[in-house]
Amino acid sequence: MTEQDLAHFSSFLAPSSILSTLSPSNTPADELTPFNDDWMGKYKGKSTTVLKPRTTEEVSKIVKYCNEKRIGIVPQGGNTGLVGGSVPVKDEVILSLSNLNKIRSFDPVSGKVTSSIPPSTPGYLTQQLGILVADAGCILQSLTDYLAPHDHIMPIDLGAKGRYALLPTRVKRNRLNCSCLVVT
Ligand SMILES: Cc1cc2nc3c(=O)[nH]c(=O)nc-3n(C[C@H](O)[C@H](O)[C@H](O)COP(=O)(O)OP(=O)(O)OC[C@H]3O[C@@H](n4cnc5c(N)ncnc54)[C@H](O)[C@@H]3O)c2cc1C
Repeated sequence: MTEQDLAHFSSFLAPSSILSTLSPSNTPADELTPFNDDWMGKYKGKSTTVLKPRTTEEVSKIVKYCNEKRIGIVPQGGNTGLVGGSVPVKDEVILSLSNLNKIRSFDPVSGKVTSSIPPSTPGYLTQQLGILVADAGCILQSLTDYLAPHDHIMPIDLGAKGRYALLPTRVKRNRLNCSCLVVT
C-alpha cells in the first residue's frame, strides 16, 4: 500500500471514508488501533489504511483495484470475531463495513411460513417471519431495535450484538433459522 494507492482510493471515496497513516491523510496511528488490534488484544496488525465504503459500488472499485495491484484486503465488521480473522497479518488494507449500515426494507407479510402438514395435525405451525433487507454492515442491535415496534425479533441474540456486523459469520451459520433476513 503506497501513497499512490491512497490517491487512487481518494479519487472515489469521501475523506471521511478513509483512515490512513500515509500522506496526505496522515491519520494518527492510534486511530487505527481499534482496527489493527483484535477484541481480545491477542493479535496486532500493521495496516496503514482503513477504507469504509458507503456503497457496494465503492466496495467493488476497491476490490478491483486491490486485485490488480495485488494488495491484500481484510474485510472487517465489528472486529469481535475473537480468533484474529479480522486482523491484518501484515499491511493489508482493512475494508470496514461500518458505513454499510442501512436498513433497506421490511415486509412483515411475505415471510409467512406454514407447515406442509394438514392443519389438524399436532405440531401444525403458521409463523409470520417477515423479510428484512439490510446492508451487510448493519449490527444486530440496530436491527433488533428497528424490528421491535413491528412486533418482530431477530432470531439471533449474542453478547456482542451491540457491535458485530451480520454478514461475517452469522448469515451462513443461521440461514435455516433466519430465512427472514436478506443481506445486500
Ligand atoms: C462478548 C461476545 C460474545 C459472543 N458470543 C457469541 C455467542 O454466544 N455465540 C457465537 O457464535 N459467537 C459469539 N461471539 C462471537 C461472534 O460470533 C462474533 O463476534 C461475530 O460473529 C463476528 O462479527 P464481527 O462483525 O465482529 O466480525 P469480524 O470479527 O469483524 O469478522 C469476522 C470474520 O469475517 C470476515 N469478514 C468480515 N466482513 C466480511 C465480509 N463482508 N465478507 C467476507 N468476510 C468478512 C473477517 O475478515 C473475519 O475473518 C461473541 C463475541 C463477543 C465479543
